[in-house]
Amino acid sequence: MAYVISDECINCGACAAACPVEAISEKDGKMVIDPEKCIECGSCAATCPVGAPQN
Ligand code: SF4
Ligand code: SF4
Repeated sequence: MAYVISDECINCGACAAACPVEAISEKDGKMVIDPEKCIECGSCAATCPVGAPQN
């Protein structure tokens, strides 16, 4: 299962910078993970200050 960003996200952008496959982008004002690109490395979860990316 690809990681998913929960509503706790504060849109800081740190996860997008940490993602090795550029799976994270902003869509309609919310950060979203493309499940087709995510390789489940966990970098986004490790980087996020509020623990929003989960799997
Ligand atoms: Fe990117 Fe890794 Fe997070 Fe998937 S788990 S969105 S590959 S940083
Ligand atoms: Fe949202 Fe966390 Fe990503 Fe920041 S690092 S944009 S709070 S999911």
